Amino acid sequence: MTSLPLEPAPALSSVQVALGSRSYDILIGADVIDSAGSVIRDILKNPRVAIITDDNVAKLHLKRLQASLTDAGIEHSAIIFPAGESSKSIATYGDLMNRLLDSRLQRDEALIALGGGVIGDLTGFAAATLRRGVDFIQIPTTLLSQVDSSVGGKTGINAPQGKNLIGAFYQPRMVLADISTLDTLPQRELLAGYAEVVKYGLLGDYQFFEWLETNGKKVIDGDAAARIYAVEQSVKAKARIVAEDEREGGIRALLNLGHTFGHALEAETGYGAHLNHGEAVAIGMIMATELSVRLGILESQDSGRIRAHFKSVGLPVAVPEIAGVNWTAENLLAHMRQDKKISGGKITLILLNAIGDAFSTNNIDEPDILSLLKQELQ
Ligand code: NAD
Ligand code: MG
Repeated sequence: MTSLPLEPAPALSSVQVALGSRSYDILIGADVIDSAGSVIRDILKNPRVAIITDDNVAKLHLKRLQASLTDAGIEHSAIIFPAGESSKSIATYGDLMNRLLDSRLQRDEALIALGGGVIGDLTGFAAATLRRGVDFIQIPTTLLSQVDSSVGGKTGINAPQGKNLIGAFYQPRMVLADISTLDTLPQRELLAGYAEVVKYGLLGDYQFFEWLETNGKKVIDGDAAARIYAVEQSVKAKARIVAEDEREGGIRALLNLGHTFGHALEAETGYGAHLNHGEAVAIGMIMATELSVRLGILESQDSGRIRAHFKSVGLPVAVPEIAGVNWTAENLLAHMRQDKKISGGKITLILLNAIGDAFSTNNIDEPDILSLLKQELQ
């Protein structure tokens, strides 16, 4: 097994999302926030911005951003919401719009999302709709938001009827991924993001998966060079897929590897604290892997490697026992039938031909899915 050598940490690495006139750069590095002002000044039409953040992130990282904006001569205000998924609501969105309009934010001014995926999705949707669209900049501060939610232009909020039901495709003008912000992230949140990192290797990049087998622990333990490399490879993969399929008509569906199973697990546990999204997706990827083996398309040796890697970094590989949750294959299948990725009455799944080679199919018979689920719940 070869492992790619770790390059010395670049001060700043840059990846472009190529979408014609809506193209933008993702800058990845340590302490990028401290130079955010000078970096974004050139793309601002008017040097006045509103920062949207949550109360956890505000305590830890807001001052640094404010200082760099002030240094660059950019006028700024900050709006702080409570941390957590509940801030991706219609009520919070309404409150945010009111406050932005009261502050007389003009069409040529911009929003900055400083935080995880909750703040990024909320701010992006506000930017898409405020005065029919103002610019916004993503400064993602969780591993999940750096490798996934800040890139690709899906923005939105939750409705009482379900997650992410109100939203828009709206691309940011720039993404600044400051890996030093990950130093303050709780371990469990870090691992949730890592599940999405390893997903990129599994779905399309064997060499990256191999690199993660050797270096994944460093990414989790805080090695800056390893973190920059992992974020860079992840956003390169996502940028490539988004550039090809901005609105999820085809290849973008591969990003759902592990997600149809994962969403069923999340739905069954009520999206609670017992199982977070990354954990559910990790278990979902194991399920997709095992189903691929059962159907004779993936070598069992490969599924063994995937399991071994998940275990070595601390990702779950089996459904945990949760008080009050009675896991049954039938219940999970029922959730999968309701998933939005169902088409023509059949469940769409992302499966693996090999590590680094995923494909989308809606040709799997439900009895096969059911018996896989039964096996995984044993
Ligand atoms: P989050 O934004 O809730 O952040 C997780 C927790 O970490 C929060 O408590 C937050 O306050 C805290 N936090 C953030 N940065 C921190 C830091 N640097 N140090 C310490 N604490 C920090 O959750 P998330 O996991 O980043 O994102 C999840 C959201 O992203 C979900 O709403 C999901 O639907 C959405 N999402 C969107 C896309 C997309 O394409 N738009 C993709 C995946 C997920
Ligand atoms: Mg996900």
